[in-house]
Amino acid sequence: MISFEEAIARLKSQVKPLEAEEIPVLESFGRILREDVRSPLAIPPFDKSAMDGYAVRAADITNASEAEPVTLKVLEDIPAGQVGRFRLKTGTVARIMTGAPVPAGADTVVMVEDTDITLDGVSIKKALVAGTHVAPAGEDVEKGEQVLSAGVRIDAAEMGMIAATGRDKVKVSVRPRVCVISTGSEVLKPGKDLQPGHIYDSNGYSLTGLATKWGADAKFLGIAPDSKGALERKIAQAADADLLVLSGGVSVGDYDLVQDILEGLGIERIFYKVGIKPGMPAFAGMRGEGLVLGLPGYPVSCMITFTLYAGVLIDSLLGKKEVGARRGRAVLSERIQLKPRRRKFLRGVLQETDGRLVVTPFSAQESGVLRSMVAANVLIDSPEGVSELNAGRLVDIIYL
Ligand code: AMP
Ligand code: MG
Repeated sequence: MISFEEAIARLKSQVKPLEAEEIPVLESFGRILREDVRSPLAIPPFDKSAMDGYAVRAADITNASEAEPVTLKVLEDIPAGQVGRFRLKTGTVARIMTGAPVPAGADTVVMVEDTDITLDGVSIKKALVAGTHVAPAGEDVEKGEQVLSAGVRIDAAEMGMIAATGRDKVKVSVRPRVCVISTGSEVLKPGKDLQPGHIYDSNGYSLTGLATKWGADAKFLGIAPDSKGALERKIAQAADADLLVLSGGVSVGDYDLVQDILEGLGIERIFYKVGIKPGMPAFAGMRGEGLVLGLPGYPVSCMITFTLYAGVLIDSLLGKKEVGARRGRAVLSERIQLKPRRRKFLRGVLQETDGRLVVTPFSAQESGVLRSMVAANVLIDSPEGVSELNAGRLVDIIYL
């Protein structure tokens, strides 16, 4: 049995990022960026009016006030999308709309609300510091500046940022192909009539969901009963998977065949059995370039070990900057007593109370209680050797 740190270190050292592909920016939500994005242009590319009003020379309106407005001559109208034809000389202004380029000679925009139309032009009722209501060229991004770096997840703002640099395509990691197999002769496909001694498959579904959530192209291959032939046939179906995940049959029971079969097929062991609870009997291996995880069948253990191990593997395949589930700290709301033997991952509910993150352990921590995973949004990561955690203390958490 190896430690959890050792297991994670071994997984990290096994994986190289998959290749990248170029896709439309519009389809890139949730993907992992595989290039540094620089802007070939300043954003905005020109000094831009931030208001509807008048482009002026600030020096012309230094004495303007409500009581004594300054009247100036209007040269032209500049709507957004057009460039002014004239250079402003002293005593002149241009009517300008939000988003239009501030004309040469002007340095300031007066809001339309601070002006009145008169027979002689426009009267300005307010003095402004030069630069007011002008978004200068490069306010957002300087020409040539790097706006995003490889390895980040593309969210909505990143999509917009890439587009703002003029790009409609972007390089991202291909989605890792993750195949999921449920094992167990008692495990039945939902939708069928329940037979005596059987249970419905939940792992196939939660694992497929987790793999999808992690950004993989997830495929559920179905259920294999606890027989060598059936298991080997199912495993063969996953020949092209970047990661194959099996649930069940990896422990020490008479019908727990998965680890033997995997190693019999030439899959090289990365580890088998890790000193954590839940989820001690987990297998990780390499099949050529492909990865294989044999996870315990208990629905909670299965989801937790997927989060801990497959999370690292998929993130590494994706070339992410930070791999594995996000960690944090929170205040424990109540005392927990533990058997100190192994490092533990308890299901917890994280809430914000009076501006503090507070975590409460879910009442039932048994590995078969899938409801605890429905209720939980974090795991409490409790170190080995600790037999109690007192209320009010800071604990490590892992976001689910
Ligand atoms: P195993 O790891 O195969 O010994 O299974 C441990 C426990 O998890 C047993 O109670 C199984 O019935 C249960 N189990 C195994 N596979 C699944 C599954 N796909 N869905 C729900 N429960 C399962
Ligand atoms: Mg089983």
